[in-house]
Amino acid sequence: MKYPRIIIDLSKIEANARVAVEAGREHSINIIGVTKACLGAPEVGRAMLAGGVAGLSDSRVSNLRRLRSAGLPGQLMLLRLPMLSEVDDVVELADASLNTSPDVIERLGQAAAVTGRRHGVIIMVETGDAREGVTPAGVAPLAVAAEMADGVDFLGVGTNVACLTGCPPSAVNLELLAEAAHVAAETIGRPLAVVSGGNSSAWRLLREGGLPEEVNELRLGEAILLGRETAEGTHIPEMLEDAFLLEAEIIESLPGRNGHHIAALGLQDTAVDDLIPLDPGWQVVKGSSDHLVLRRDTDPSPIGSTIVFRPGYQSLLRAMTSPFVEKHYV
Ligand SMILES: *Cc1c(COP(=O)(O)O)cnc(C)c1O
Repeated sequence: MKYPRIIIDLSKIEANARVAVEAGREHSINIIGVTKACLGAPEVGRAMLAGGVAGLSDSRVSNLRRLRSAGLPGQLMLLRLPMLSEVDDVVELADASLNTSPDVIERLGQAAAVTGRRHGVIIMVETGDAREGVTPAGVAPLAVAAEMADGVDFLGVGTNVACLTGCPPSAVNLELLAEAAHVAAETIGRPLAVVSGGNSSAWRLLREGGLPEEVNELRLGEAILLGRETAEGTHIPEMLEDAFLLEAEIIESLPGRNGHHIAALGLQDTAVDDLIPLDPGWQVVKGSSDHLVLRRDTDPSPIGSTIVFRPGYQSLLRAMTSPFVEKHYV
């Protein structure tokens, strides 16, 4: 056995995806599975698809390439606004992308047309997170640009909240999105195929039937992977929280040092601030690049024994992208 390792239970990811898909179906909302916290691992994408998600999306072209190369079926969407320097890869690997620039939309269309493809464009609207998105007033001109661009299928509008500021979505954010959807539809004279209402922070609104009826899609990563909604950071009761477990080996445990232990795990492996030891007898003290200092006030753990953590989103993302962490699928 090699440590540190992350144990990935694909049947739990599939089960969580199924819960999300069924919750979406009750409100006619398609669920897109987000793989970016897992470096676009095809195994994870396949588990999400087995749970019924309508498509997969990732923030990075190289992760989409992993999913495509593994031969996964279905639609792939790029989550981060495309770089101008990557438009050729974007149209090769993604069926659709999220956009806020007329220039990028035009270049995507040109790149698609050259290779005989069409690229789907969703316009992002800023509704309160202060990250990506045009103002509501910017929607109509961009909708025209997307509708007119060669090689482009203008699919609809979307928004993203609670990523940068952590502010949860509200009826107000989503009414802005619904309003933008109406403006865009009127501008181009036909209904939109997609109104993409956000990420795992919208879970509770979905459950309570609080999303505007215009919203027909959510893009969910954390909810499916970790069973958590991100508006208040709580466990989703019907989902499993332990699809991922991170295991590290104890390398120091000395008598006379008062519960002090060191595990061979550090910032080169994961983010150490949101690791939750499964055994509550452990307390995380602090981590540096390669060492994690822990306390254990009950029975000491010998050198060579292991400690298991439930990773939060940051530690999951860092562990899945670290070359030092063994990925163990079950
Ligand atoms: C990361 C991301 C998501 C998924 O976020 P979760 O909180 O993991 O559900 C959705 N949309 C965009 C644009 C993202 O960047």
